[in-house]
Amino acid sequence: MRRIALIACGGTIAGQPDAAGRFRPVGAAAELLGGVAVPAGVEVVPVDALSVPSRAMSPADVLGLVALVERLAGGEAPVDGAVVTQGTDTLEETAYLFELTCAAAIPVVLTGAMRPSVVAGSDGPANIAAALAVAARPEAAGLGPLVVFGDEIHAARWATKVHTVRPAAFASPGAGPVGIVGEGRVRLWGPACSGLLGRPAALAARVELLAVASGDDGRLAEAAGSYADGLVVAAMGGGHVPPAAAAVLARLAKRMPVVLASRCAAGPVLTSTYRGAGAETDLLAHGLLAAGNLQPLKARLRLMAGLALGLSPESLFPLD
Ligand code: ASP
Repeated sequence: MRRIALIACGGTIAGQPDAAGRFRPVGAAAELLGGVAVPAGVEVVPVDALSVPSRAMSPADVLGLVALVERLAGGEAPVDGAVVTQGTDTLEETAYLFELTCAAAIPVVLTGAMRPSVVAGSDGPANIAAALAVAARPEAAGLGPLVVFGDEIHAARWATKVHTVRPAAFASPGAGPVGIVGEGRVRLWGPACSGLLGRPAALAARVELLAVASGDDGRLAEAAGSYADGLVVAAMGGGHVPPAAAAVLARLAKRMPVVLASRCAAGPVLTSTYRGAGAETDLLAHGLLAAGNLQPLKARLRLMAGLALGLSPESLFPLD
């Protein structure tokens, strides 16, 4: 038997309607199992952690979950894997923070649902069954934390929510899934992956995420730079910003880490293609750090975790 912890954190998957028909999370872990075809050979250990919409989950909450999973994976009756259920809105951030900070050597799988259990075509039970099946596979641990959704298996490094309502809400733009669940069988093909930095005691650094739009003159960056410890810029295309914003970012990069990511869904930040004010070569020459093909949301978490661990920003962003 493989003992798999089912750690409930709320979200639509645990949602029940109020009198007006609006959903909020109420379900506990044991209740999530209603209608779930638990895979053969799996014993589920229900754990109630949080009962919130994922917009209310903070990075500090996720660090608490990481500590919980590490505890469950050690001790006298260790579990063989963990499935975390939560709201889909911030699921990719939880998954990537697990990758950065969780040292437990067991499969960690995140899932959720786009349709609450009382709605026709509810996807929660199938997602939980698939997630349990993946978490029961020892070799899944080598792929890093995984997002299992709509029968696809995505690595935390790449997984992102790509749709607001469809059950096939997650994808890995630029990379593709690392496996699939079909006929109740788990097929994994993804490469081994570990982005582990370590688990800090807290995430104290204030890192802001700024989306750059055409005509941006840097005033928002200026404001964020007045109080933040670091910035991540979701820049245009291959890592570009309007010239006026470039001047502000160059100034800020002299006194705090400023990471250059792209607002595109996929592809790396360029390093040597364009010249001129606001081009990637200009920004990098002024000390901005290229995020490679790491999405801005995740670059922010990487900088927060790295700073909390005392790592140099330069060592965190030599990413491809
Ligand atoms: N708003 C919900 C949440 O993230 C959405 C979901 O669970 O899919 O908690």
